[in-house]
Amino acid sequence: MSWWCELAWLGGGAEQATAGVVIEASDGRITSVHAGVAAPPAGATRLDGLTIPGLANAHSHAFHRALRGRTRAGTGSFWTWRDQMYGIAQRLDPDAYFRLARATYAEMALAGITVVGEFHYVHHQPDGTPYADANAMGEALLAAAAEAGIRITLLDTCYLHGGLTADGYAPLADHQRRFGDRHADAWAARAAARCGAGSPTPMAVLGAAVHSVRAVDPASMAAVGAWATGRDAPLHIHLSEQPAENEACLAHHGRTPTELLHDAGLLGERLTAVHATHLTDADLGLLASTRSGVCLCPTTERDLADGIGPTGALAAAGVPLCLGSDSHAVIDPFEEARAVELDERLATLVRGTHPASALLTAATATGYSALGWDGGGVLAEGSPVDLTTVGLDSVRLAGTDADSALASVVFAATAADVTYVVVGGNVVVSDGAHASIDVAAELDASIRAVTGSAA
Ligand SMILES: [Zn+2]
Repeated sequence: MSWWCELAWLGGGAEQATAGVVIEASDGRITSVHAGVAAPPAGATRLDGLTIPGLANAHSHAFHRALRGRTRAGTGSFWTWRDQMYGIAQRLDPDAYFRLARATYAEMALAGITVVGEFHYVHHQPDGTPYADANAMGEALLAAAAEAGIRITLLDTCYLHGGLTADGYAPLADHQRRFGDRHADAWAARAAARCGAGSPTPMAVLGAAVHSVRAVDPASMAAVGAWATGRDAPLHIHLSEQPAENEACLAHHGRTPTELLHDAGLLGERLTAVHATHLTDADLGLLASTRSGVCLCPTTERDLADGIGPTGALAAAGVPLCLGSDSHAVIDPFEEARAVELDERLATLVRGTHPASALLTAATATGYSALGWDGGGVLAEGSPVDLTTVGLDSVRLAGTDADSALASVVFAATAADVTYVVVGGNVVVSDGAHASIDVAAELDASIRAVTGSAA
């Protein structure tokens, strides 16, 4: 297979696109990349616009897609939003979740996303009783990604407690029962039962997650960390999204959430801390010195009034940054990427902390690495052949030239500008349409099924 790209971004910190790039591939891997080819060679698919590596959405809860628009208006807080989210979670079963996730992942494919990190914690029946197959919900997510045509890293999430106060951990509330495995050994046994079969397909990676310091005590999080280390699997955790979490952790444990993770042995290159919005300078130093990563979710953080994280300081300290759409308030990797820089400008009154190439690296190679797909997210020989083409002829991007293409796409493109997507050599999106799924219709039907709203 081969493609001729009018313009392509070849990474490596380049702030400009390269013209006339031929990408050849076989068996799902890129076999060669040649620049400066003036016209498409015989047999090559012509890709007008800017072609970039496939985009990595490193933090997703697929079922939150059903909340879009339903929780956005009015006042309320992260905590009232959470109650509405629990209401949707109660209505899921493996079939309904499969259909909702397949449509959501197909929406991601249309947005140029080629790999998703699914932070999965809706494990059991609503009363906490396991399904006949204790991993039925996770299997539904794996099948959904396969049908949508994108890669998935299933981050099987340990969730044991209902919350944390100065007095300690609360038991799971009724609406949290289906998230919980009772104790870390039971979580590990269930997760290991899935791993016993190995990776389900070449398009899936199995990883682990600790929901948060609110939901998992230090001894249990250490057990999850050891499980991930033993399997060389990626490990993710929600960290310091809200000041209330920090206050409760300090009140009970006498240390910040980041310090608690450090004591439990979780910090390190394997770990991706999601959000990391409210950090002390010492927290930031711990993340940097242990080479831990951070996943930013700016469109969710702004929607939930979480605050603006110290992204400039994290980047300056060398902390790898990746991106996630988390609650799917929108699914648009370009909006997610530019928000990192634009929020930083608002917070610091300084422009240009995160150049376009750094934002695009966060959206591609760093995300792939955080999800256990080392070597992915770049257009280079030996990498998985995952690529996304952004048309430059919409009203948003008309007038773009080769010199401005990278900045135009990062700072002005939307998901609607994605025209063509390849994952593992398969054409998943062509002419802006999904190869096999009527995405809007499937979103509509699957969301109505779990919200109960009328057509
Ligand atoms: Zn999340």
